[in-house]
Amino acid sequence: MHEMSIAQNLIRIIDQEMSRHNAKKLLRVSITYGSISGIVPEMLQTAFKALTEDTPLQGAELETREVPLKVRCRSCSEVFIPQDDLLIMTCTSCGTEFGHEIVEGKEMYVQEMEVE
Ligand SMILES: [Zn+2]
Repeated sequence: MHEMSIAQNLIRIIDQEMSRHNAKKLLRVSITYGSISGIVPEMLQTAFKALTEDTPLQGAELETREVPLKVRCRSCSEVFIPQDDLLIMTCTSCGTEFGHEIVEGKEMYVQEMEVE
């Protein structure tokens, strides 16, 4: 399961942050993930819950927020959010359809943490 390894990475990051701040317990963590990162939030929740059992992270609330795919046009450098089809992403400024660079949408990162 893809989400298991994502949750493991997430937990490692949280653990590092917590020890840096001498935190004893995680109350809430908020993550942001891109719409083409392949993350299914429900599955990530399940994996997170399973992996944090009997740890200081147990019972923490996991919030997930999706950010849309954003690309930068290869011709005019316009940054835009492609609509509908991901194979043909028509630039909203100049109409170029292919070869854009992905700016946002593949990543996952911790947005916020609440600890005590
Ligand atoms: Zn363009």
